Amino acid sequence: MSSSPSSGGWSTVSTDPLLIRGALVDGVRLDCRAADGRIVALAPGLTTDPGDRILEARGGALLPGLQDHHVHVLAAAATRVSLDLAGGPLPTPIEGSDAADAADRGWLRVVGLGDDDVTRADLDAVWPSRPVRAQHRSGALWVLNSAATAELTEHLTDEERRTGRLWRERGRVAGAAERLTLVAQLAHLGRELAGWGVTGLTDATPDLDAATLEFVRSSVPQRVWSLGAVATDLPRKVVVTDHDDDTWERLRTGVLAARDEGRAVALHAVSRTALALAVAVLGEVGVVPGDRVEHAAVCDDATADRLAELGVVVVTQPSIPARRGRALLEAVDPEDRPWLWRMGGLRARGVDVVLSSDAPYGDPNPWTSIALSSGGLPEAGSPWLADETWDARSALGSYLTAPALPAGPERRVGVGAPADLCLLDGPLDEVLARVAGGGTTAPVRATVIGGRLVAQ
Ligand SMILES: [Zn+2]
Repeated sequence: MSSSPSSGGWSTVSTDPLLIRGALVDGVRLDCRAADGRIVALAPGLTTDPGDRILEARGGALLPGLQDHHVHVLAAAATRVSLDLAGGPLPTPIEGSDAADAADRGWLRVVGLGDDDVTRADLDAVWPSRPVRAQHRSGALWVLNSAATAELTEHLTDEERRTGRLWRERGRVAGAAERLTLVAQLAHLGRELAGWGVTGLTDATPDLDAATLEFVRSSVPQRVWSLGAVATDLPRKVVVTDHDDDTWERLRTGVLAARDEGRAVALHAVSRTALALAVAVLGEVGVVPGDRVEHAAVCDDATADRLAELGVVVVTQPSIPARRGRALLEAVDPEDRPWLWRMGGLRARGVDVVLSSDAPYGDPNPWTSIALSSGGLPEAGSPWLADETWDARSALGSYLTAPALPAGPERRVGVGAPADLCLLDGPLDEVLARVAGGGTTAPVRATVIGGRLVAQ
């Protein structure tokens, strides 16, 4: 890794020393001291210094922080705290739902408001605390609650402040509201991911521009890498379509352009045809370390053998078929039926397989993916005809590798390594047995990024 992205708005590196006491590191009970964002000592019985922040591990396993190798951060954030009324009335908030009210949950965007007469006071009755912006389904009217009115006050007229109603908003307030909403949504997603031990994200959106990437980096506590055009130290995402006459040439041009930048490629290939094209182009151009195929959702044995021969990594997402269930099977071409969303079967043929979320399309919680890939997909609607599971330790390994080489060596907890850490709530074998058995998808006691405790 030539550079490690900073997280602008969050001060990435904590200068306050952190002492984690009694953690299992590779099975040995040790204390771990972090300072200036790195691990500076790792030994049994470290002495406590004045000013140390103490974290009692109580025998939990200490791992490198988890890296999600394929996620769409902005899209995942946006779907998490917005509410579509689909023309219906205002809701009664349900505790714990995204619509629930609490000031610290940040901005809520409501769309599809059907009632023409809603005012600031009506929204306040449902959401007295968190800022809410509700958009009428016609698009002609926005209504703000009092918390939102207060945050946007400098952009509003007196009348708008009083009623909370804005007519034919044409960008005067939208930019400010959109940004505040996104910041809140990203912070919410970042907190949730931290609660699952995630410390690094690889954004797989190909057209993410530099300003947006910086905005994302400044809004979540995780380190964020990108497969897009503006970053240069990770593979470049190229989407393989399978309907156009010039697909081959465009794909080849895309791969060669990445090579000119000195980059590997991440080829998005969902269909059988797209995967065949991806494999053929990589065969012609030649493979470099880090080359990967995203999804490979239809992969027969012959294609698997070719991927293994070429050394191309498959980055897959078990939570997508788990979510789609029967709908996936109903949509599928019969000849593709035996080859859907394979994992263990590809690995058995020598393909390096790596898990990820593809959130918001898949589940952002890594432990859900580890549980599905080791315990199996829900039987009703599972696309797997053969056993495609693998062991939970290998599944976890997907999240412990470096962003540039998802199938490369696992990062280690060691002196000098970044203090990006995930502390589990028990010994590793015990936790993995519980996760694989469906017992929990939140076995994390604490998460540290750059020496800073971001979840506990
Ligand atoms: Zn994706």
